[in-house]
Amino acid sequence: MAPIKLVIKLNGRPICKRKLEIEDHNGLQEEKSPKKVRLLGSENNVDDLLLGLKNRKRDLYNQKENRRLLLRNKLCGIIFRRSLLRRQKLCLVLDLDHTLLHSVKISDVSLDEQDYLNGKSGLITCMKTVGRHSLYNHKGRYTRLRPYVRDFLEQVCGKFELYVYTMGERWYAEEVVRLIDPKSVYFNNKVISKDDSTDRNRKNLDVVLGANASNTVIIDDTESVWKEHKDNMICINKFNYFSSRNGGGHRLNMDNDELDEDNGALKRILEVLQRVHEKFFEEFPAKTDVRPVLKAVLKEVSAN
Ligand SMILES: [Mg+2]
Repeated sequence: MAPIKLVIKLNGRPICKRKLEIEDHNGLQEEKSPKKVRLLGSENNVDDLLLGLKNRKRDLYNQKENRRLLLRNKLCGIIFRRSLLRRQKLCLVLDLDHTLLHSVKISDVSLDEQDYLNGKSGLITCMKTVGRHSLYNHKGRYTRLRPYVRDFLEQVCGKFELYVYTMGERWYAEEVVRLIDPKSVYFNNKVISKDDSTDRNRKNLDVVLGANASNTVIIDDTESVWKEHKDNMICINKFNYFSSRNGGGHRLNMDNDELDEDNGALKRILEVLQRVHEKFFEEFPAKTDVRPVLKAVLKEVSAN
């Protein structure tokens, strides 16, 4: 059978010409038999070109799609923000590690503490166990929720649209958020990880639907990641429960590791948030920026 000429084009211009030879393995049953296409010349080169072409097409598609999604998100954000304000809600963006919980790899905890933790009656190893627990052994990690965290979320969810924003990876963020909010009552998939961020080393409200500098309060133990939104931030003291071989944690006090639920940082911040919400909507819509309100309330609290 005569070879077939193959021409590969990119944007209408030929970039590669090759001859194809059709081999027939079944002789007389030519029309019904399967046919094998063999490229004459270097198969790898053609494969590479096809792959390059496919990648380029994919990149162009992704760029176009990203622009479309950014525009769509922006429009959705405006509509959603208006709907939140109509329902008298602000946005609250919460960091995860050392803000809502402390999570460490089991291998980073000293052996005597591992023995102690594994023998603790409150330690949960089965995620199907229901109830308001605070200490977990899961996916090779120990996780301790910050005291008062669930009460805090329950109290703020009516007044604030809640988001988690972490510089951790998505799989990790989803795993630990499931411990705090197993029925997705508070966050309902509103979990932003470093994979979603537009900047790998910083957090920004551009990826938080409905949130901007005028309607959002942020709670985080690391101020430096919020360069653009320092005026929206309440800096919370780091919650450390476990010790860590790598440093960064406090040694677990095995004689008395129960923490005071009623006088913790989240309880104090709850009072600030309630005051901010009240003050903001007293002045809304004449004033529409939460930043001066937050500043005034923080000043009031520190004066007291
Ligand atoms: Mg943190």
